[in-house]
Amino acid sequence: FLVLDHLQKSFGTTKVVHDFNLSVDKGEFVSFLGPSGCGKTTVLRMVAGFETPSEGQIVIDGQDVTRLRPNQRQIGMVFQSYALFPNLTVAENVGFGLKVAGVPRAERGPRVAEMLDLIGLPDLGGRYPWQLSGGQQQRVALARALAPRPRVLLLDEPLSALDAKIRVSLRNQIREIQQQLGITTIFVTHDQEEALSISDRIVVMHKGIADQTGTPSDIYNSPATHFVAGFVGTLN
Ligand code: ATP
Repeated sequence: FLVLDHLQKSFGTTKVVHDFNLSVDKGEFVSFLGPSGCGKTTVLRMVAGFETPSEGQIVIDGQDVTRLRPNQRQIGMVFQSYALFPNLTVAENVGFGLKVAGVPRAERGPRVAEMLDLIGLPDLGGRYPWQLSGGQQQRVALARALAPRPRVLLLDEPLSALDAKIRVSLRNQIREIQQQLGITTIFVTHDQEEALSISDRIVVMHKGIADQTGTPSDIYNSPATHFVAGFVGTLN
């Protein structure tokens, strides 16, 4: 459903992504796992359209989107820090992309209400972001990303800024919502436990390369390289 075909990216003379290949099924939840600087975010930003690949192709549902602008790709994205608009209410934040996406006015209100129900915050539409906890803000960011019904959901370390306890409950909630909607998802993290606990498959990245792609049990029980073994903690 989502195909990343021989992607490469250089900044100046530095190549940060080398020949990255991945095919994600519709409805699959795939994590990119690796240490800081390995190129996870760069690959995600190429899928989103914020970076243009130096080489390679990105295909979504049979459509070559490599040269399309971000807003033409039907992608939803959630970032590490809550990128909510501070001067808009929760409902306005969630509804923000709907007009641009061409959703008729009469459908926007019900769609926002549906999204607030989905994230478990049905009564908070009138609040402003500063009146919410960090975890609630990230749930609103998720609702905003999902409201236009994107084809692919991209999550860039969405839990990293949160307390450990909230991180676990929110990651479970993200996974439940993802499965309920059946939305194809890529989740970037440097936290191996997080990736092992919620993914259908994991891509372990190291220095701009996918060292291993497999199910959590493949990665954990049969690490393909010394790096993967070290990173997922099976080499102690
Ligand atoms: P982190 O978890 O720290 O975000 P990452 O695995 O997501 O790490 P990237 O953000 O993709 O890594 O960065 C990969 C490499 O590319 C890093 O060495 C980074 O410094 C470099 N890089 C990223 N964006 C740019 C840019 N716009 N210009 C130059 N170098 C960049």
